Amino acid sequence: MKLHEYYSKRRFSEYGIPIPKGEIAETPQEAQKIAKELGGSVVVKSQVLVGGRGKAGGIKVAKDPKEAFQHAEDILKLTIKGLPVRKVLIDEAADIKDEIYLGITNDRAARKPVIMASAEGGIDIEEVAHKTPEKIIKCHIDPLMGLQSYQSRDLAAGIDLPRDLWRDFGKIAHGLWQAYVGSDATLAEINPLVVTGEGQLLAVDGKMVLDDNALFRHPDLEKYRDLDVDKEAEIQAREHGLSFIKLGGDIGCMVNGAGLAMTTMDIIKLFGGEPANFLDIGGGASSEKVAAALEIILSDSNVKAVLFNIFGGITRCDLVAMGILEALKDLKTEVPMVVRLVGTNAAEGRQLLKDASMETADTLAEAAKMAIAAAKR
Ligand code: GDP
Ligand code: MN
Repeated sequence: MKLHEYYSKRRFSEYGIPIPKGEIAETPQEAQKIAKELGGSVVVKSQVLVGGRGKAGGIKVAKDPKEAFQHAEDILKLTIKGLPVRKVLIDEAADIKDEIYLGITNDRAARKPVIMASAEGGIDIEEVAHKTPEKIIKCHIDPLMGLQSYQSRDLAAGIDLPRDLWRDFGKIAHGLWQAYVGSDATLAEINPLVVTGEGQLLAVDGKMVLDDNALFRHPDLEKYRDLDVDKEAEIQAREHGLSFIKLGGDIGCMVNGAGLAMTTMDIIKLFGGEPANFLDIGGGASSEKVAAALEIILSDSNVKAVLFNIFGGITRCDLVAMGILEALKDLKTEVPMVVRLVGTNAAEGRQLLKDASMETADTLAEAAKMAIAAAKR
């Protein structure tokens, strides 16, 4: 789950990172009022979960409240990279002398978090990484030891930060690490971290990505989810406790178990088909869950066939079969379904489905071929 700039920066500020004073506005009137309260020039910033808002015209400096009204009015009409701008952040404008990049993410290959800094801040860091990777200084963090002060000094030296800012830079890096760990984040990023005209460090932009699997530990953060970035089907799936990811193919997949779901997609591809989705309905799925999952799969008009791949361990296959039939009673559909059931009470389950004239298969390979053929029909 991505956090908006405003919440990310607020979170950073809780860990001692200096951020500009600012408030969220949903209308030009509110923007004007906030600008008046802040006094002086402000920056009007679209709150959408994509990078490069500046280039897209979603960030503008206003010299007075009237201009803030104008900019807010314009920016609130924008759609940036497909996302509508619903809110703007009105921040005290910073007097920017230098822009630095500072970010922490997981380095999966190293199996450790990595902190990165670059003197080439403000712009797209992926571009810097691509064209001039030597300009990004990296330091792996031992998850048990945490970020060490010699590491933040190495970063400061590596980006040629003036000596008198090292202390503050160290505090910010440490705060960012604490925010990262404390939020179960997979990314915590300040881009740019600016050096102001008065020679102070200030986090002008902030971005956090939280690990969805750890969100239950942060019930206070769930309310900051922006549903604009999620696909409707994925929102529905989350509500039913299903792991669902929409893909581009035409064969819907309903599987119990993430590993089995991956295998199912691989086998479909092996025989020349394309899966329409990844879906793990979990163990011991009830008929309500099966019904919800089927509804989500069929809401995709690309789906030409559905493949059920169920391994009954604790789950009994006859109960799953009843769930499928129950679900199909309410869901009128012409889409062909192929079911592969193995495990506890598989024979009973298959019989139930055969009686209801559904296609069943004994092996996954067979089921995949049948589903591909059915989709082509
Ligand atoms: P992004 O384009 O979505 O990454 O949004 P940012 O918040 O990083 O802003 C993009 C650029 O706008 C920054 O790199 C700055 O150059 C500029 N900018 C942002 N805030 C201010 C500000 O307070 N004052 C000034 N002068 N420029 C700003
Ligand atoms: Mn930025």
